[in-house]
Amino acid sequence: MRASQFFLSTLKEAPADADIVSQKLMLRAGFIRKVAAGVYTWMPMGLKSLRKVENIVREEMNRAGAIELSMPVVQPAGLWQETGRWDKMGDELLRFKDRHERDFVIQPTSEEVVTDIARSELKSYRALPKNFYQIQTKFRDERRPRFGVMRGREFTMKDAYSFDRDAEAAGRSYDNMFAAYCKIFDRLGLSYRAVAADTGAIGGDRSHEFQVIADTGEDAIVYCPDSDYAANIELAEAVAPAGTRPAATAPLTKVHTPAVKTIAELVDFLKVDIKQTVKAVVVEGEEGEAVLMLVRGDHELNEIKAEKVAGVKKPLSFASPTLIREAFGAQPGSLGPVGFKGRVIADRTVAAMADFVIGANEDDQHYTGANFGRDCAEPEVADLRNVVAGDASPDGKGVLAIQRGIEVGHVFYLGTKYSEAMGATFLDEDGKPRFFEMGCYGIGVTRILGAAIEQNHDDKGIIWPDSIAPFTVVLCPVGYDRNEGVKAAADQLYADLAAAGVDVVLDDRGERPGAMFADWELIGVPHRVTIGDRGLKDGKVEYQHRRDAAATAVAVGDALGYVLARLG
Ligand code: ATP
Ligand code: MG
Ligand code: MG
Ligand code: MG
Repeated sequence: MRASQFFLSTLKEAPADADIVSQKLMLRAGFIRKVAAGVYTWMPMGLKSLRKVENIVREEMNRAGAIELSMPVVQPAGLWQETGRWDKMGDELLRFKDRHERDFVIQPTSEEVVTDIARSELKSYRALPKNFYQIQTKFRDERRPRFGVMRGREFTMKDAYSFDRDAEAAGRSYDNMFAAYCKIFDRLGLSYRAVAADTGAIGGDRSHEFQVIADTGEDAIVYCPDSDYAANIELAEAVAPAGTRPAATAPLTKVHTPAVKTIAELVDFLKVDIKQTVKAVVVEGEEGEAVLMLVRGDHELNEIKAEKVAGVKKPLSFASPTLIREAFGAQPGSLGPVGFKGRVIADRTVAAMADFVIGANEDDQHYTGANFGRDCAEPEVADLRNVVAGDASPDGKGVLAIQRGIEVGHVFYLGTKYSEAMGATFLDEDGKPRFFEMGCYGIGVTRILGAAIEQNHDDKGIIWPDSIAPFTVVLCPVGYDRNEGVKAAADQLYADLAAAGVDVVLDDRGERPGAMFADWELIGVPHRVTIGDRGLKDGKVEYQHRRDAAATAVAVGDALGYVLARLG
């Protein structure tokens, strides 16, 4: 590709509403452009990376024996009524009526349609096992879309659905997908952890999330550094053995605050016995939600308790008592000031929340206060979650640690939940109808790009793993438009790399070197060759990996081999 025939659109500054580094860099590097909240255009540069992710996912799914199909984005309500999800799913399910007043949904996932296909297509046990997948647009009307493509409303998911004769065979399909996911995330060059996840109404132990490790992750995962135990924090309490933590205080019920103005009122309101059990209260959250952390006992890490209040799905943050004290200026052993932490609260939101804010940190020009979830759409009964850092690992092999993660994939054993609801059966060997044993397997294809950037960037921009870089190699000729020797050398290397099957871009725009380098460093192309008049006089070009501190001179004749040897 020649840059002049492609489309580059880089920005010096990220738009003001971008919160995290991946979102800022994707916007600045011209990968995405925002159209509405949680809805983005994939610009040509971004689409190149997106297609590479899709292709890796597709290759490994095919290799694992899954079969690609494509189900409609728009789906009739009838199927969703059969499973009851039409009623259960709430506002996240986008619904609309067509011109005949018939109800439809935009698929957030496709269990209903794929089960409908199975019941009409997979008649006999001989047709099993089958695993159908698609890489398709999803829409979820997320209460708070944010972080760019990380939590979009419209996004691309790879969703797969397995159909088996019995639970044992379904287990094999599950293991097969688990292994395929490991290959996919390895090839994507991500640092990740597979963690046990909540199985909700289905029960059992067959649900794992693939979490990319990153401080900006919305999930908190516990793991044991000394063994392979790992779980989403949602599950940690359920699986950790009894007696490894203090007894839970009474669950908080929904929080609709009156104007709480003092800590005493807060304590009263929350109905926690603060003198007995709590030495610091930190309230943390963003618009419409709050997270409480009750630090108990003598400030041991394993005695932090995170309590969730209305509308909060997950604790947003965990911190040691020391960090909490530092952040909020509390004295050890005292009740710390109630603090509001987090960059999301801009002046305008603070002002809008005035009624719901208490406390102020005198040492800090930064405002601190507490948000009690004024606009909670779902005032649900909150559950208690214990933070279990320092607790014994359930496998008895050490103690637990906590880190943040981004959920990029999820494998889930469904059993007969959907097949029973939809009457989806096949004829087994004995001639009797049986319900399909199912599994579902999702990958957040678009979210992966954000997660990869969270893990791979520096102050100049993105640093793509080779496998998903929009271009693998960029050639930067200095004076391409005016120096015949430079042009000839660049054209030759470009032709050679392209012939070797390398995804190479030649920057023929005639930009000044500074501007040219800045663009490609921001975009994050991992390998760069600079071709300049001065080097060519010595018969040299310069190679630099995006992570290298300096360039290496390479003889013109060796350049092709040198670059090829460096590709991942
Ligand atoms: P989350 O907990 O982040 O809301 P989820 O558990 O609701 O995700 P699943 O139903 O398991 O998501 O969907 C499979 C995958 O789709 C997730 O693992 C995630 O990578 C991706 N995904 C889910 N919601 C979004 C979203 N709003 N934007 C981008 N990707 C998403
Ligand atoms: Mg979700
Ligand atoms: Mg989840
Ligand atoms: Mg999930």
